[in-house]
Amino acid sequence: ASLYKIDRWGAPYFSVNSAGNIAVRPHGSETLTHQEIDLMKVVNKVLGSKTMGGLGLNLPLIVRFPDVLKNRLESLQSAFDSAIQSQGYESHYQGVYPVKCNQDGFIVEDVVKFGYPFRFGLEAGSKPELLLAMSSLCKGNPEALLVCNGYKDVEYISLVLVGRKLGFNTVIVLEQEEELDLVIDVSRRLDVSPVVGLRAKLRTKHEGHFGSTSGEKGKFGLTTIEILSVAKKLKQAGMLDCLQLLHFHIGSQIPSTSLLSDAVGEAAQIYCELVRLGAAMRVIDVGGGLGIDYEGSQSAYSDNSVGYGLREYASAVVQAIRQACDQKFVRHPVICSESGRALVSHHSILIFEALSAVGLETPDLGLHYFLDELTGDARSDYLNLTAAASRGEHEAFSFYVNQFKQCCIEKFKEGSLGLEHLAAADSVCELVAKAMGASDSVQTYHVNLSIFTSVPDSWGIGQQFPIVPIHRLDQQPRVKGILSDLTCDSDGKIDKFINGESSLLLHEFESKDNFGGYYLGMFLGGAYQEALGGLHNLFGRPNVVRVSHSDGHSFSVTKMVPGLSCGEVLKLMQHEPELMFKELKHRVEEHCGLDIEGQIDSSSIVTGLAHSFMNMPYLVTGSVCEISH
Ligand code: PLP
Repeated sequence: ASLYKIDRWGAPYFSVNSAGNIAVRPHGSETLTHQEIDLMKVVNKVLGSKTMGGLGLNLPLIVRFPDVLKNRLESLQSAFDSAIQSQGYESHYQGVYPVKCNQDGFIVEDVVKFGYPFRFGLEAGSKPELLLAMSSLCKGNPEALLVCNGYKDVEYISLVLVGRKLGFNTVIVLEQEEELDLVIDVSRRLDVSPVVGLRAKLRTKHEGHFGSTSGEKGKFGLTTIEILSVAKKLKQAGMLDCLQLLHFHIGSQIPSTSLLSDAVGEAAQIYCELVRLGAAMRVIDVGGGLGIDYEGSQSAYSDNSVGYGLREYASAVVQAIRQACDQKFVRHPVICSESGRALVSHHSILIFEALSAVGLETPDLGLHYFLDELTGDARSDYLNLTAAASRGEHEAFSFYVNQFKQCCIEKFKEGSLGLEHLAAADSVCELVAKAMGASDSVQTYHVNLSIFTSVPDSWGIGQQFPIVPIHRLDQQPRVKGILSDLTCDSDGKIDKFINGESSLLLHEFESKDNFGGYYLGMFLGGAYQEALGGLHNLFGRPNVVRVSHSDGHSFSVTKMVPGLSCGEVLKLMQHEPELMFKELKHRVEEHCGLDIEGQIDSSSIVTGLAHSFMNMPYLVTGSVCEISH
């Protein structure tokens, strides 16, 4: 566990149990070990054949634990409640979940349900997100906020205003000054009084990767000049009482509470100035940015970590707002945050399987005598390297190994060395390196996964997520490995890990027949990865299951959402699977029309084709494979 720092990034939800498997504590308590769920048991249940009581699904698989999500939401709320109480703050915290982090229907439904007692609401950044937020909030707390961000057109603004007619607490947050004219116009036409917020472009700049759009030259929000102009226009329109919320967002993964306090303090001053100018201000919305410690280092200097926890975050926010408001004798506002990453990251685990491991050559001693046939440079390099090895001179040995290999490759390309000579050269180098303890090879573990679909931030922005074998954790891993996915793309690999190294210590790969598979988990990936993931090589969304805690160590799979089939991913790229199948079927009839004894039956080819459209694009590695061509 310490090797993979599970106790650092995983507490209080993940640990290792006595069987050497990852244990999940769905209620987040380190003391409730009797409630741990063995993740391997979940995987076995999901992969197991239906006749044996399993679900018969294949990997890759996303396992979601709604109990963990509930615990995250309650922990966030309780962090703010405690800060508010201990600092004598005279209003309350009321968060919203930015649905962009993961728009999955069940997740949004859960947030609305778990957040009901706390008036927890939603944030939308586009028209479809607004539609889903409104329909989800039909079951939400009537006081929950529905914050509408993002660039807006007449249709978006009309939807927000219709939302108010329908009893939702929608707030139009102006992202650009021009949106105000539309808001005034549409609200008059629809005869609805809007609640308006504005997004301020703060001077405080978040210097990390996620803050590249913040600061004075940032992409989003209104400048000081524009804020004053909006207030003036609203006053002229007799609508200054509609301006009630101030929002800012300086980027995700805010690294430190000092930067946070700086930003919140600046925003709180703007808030107080708007109060002075006569706006009916009520809410300060500090945006997202509450970070996750992916590497377990609590470091403010890494994009993969942050130097605070939930409590420190909440305390810094409350304090900065209180100070500014007390200084200006302004009534304390309701505090809203749009924390997405911090809410949904922990409760999803991506599980995938290693299919093979390559890298260490297996020397073939039978080829050895080909070395006697070497001549010229190749021969002298060979003699030099064996001499260096016998003297134990590592540096000289590495030098001659490279030179010898290079020389042999050139001779092979010229046509003066045979394939066996080249293989003999590789064999002897590997053998001697092993004998000298100088073999530092890294193995490539091929995994049944698409990095582009399931871990896009690893490929796109070099983010590192904790990746850990979910079993065999009672055995010492000895092989340095990197992960390579199924796509035909050199970027489809993970070779940077949270330990700061370019390889990860993994267990020796044993074939499935001997061992039953080598399963890895990618943790903390519940935010952004699914919505950003693409269809590279037409690998689509994996299977998803929702797992709830029952009594003691037991669990139940409450929902199973199959991943996209080959036919479904094809459809997403404007193909017509039904038509494709018909065409191919016709082709089978043309080419295999007559069933001659001993030839493949054409109907079994057609059945095989039909299965191929219905099955998933990932490799089927279990013993049960329903397809036969
Ligand atoms: N609010 C806005 C306006 C955002 O752009 C984002 C994401 O970048 C968020 C909230 C969510 O941020 P986080 O995931 O850091 O909580």
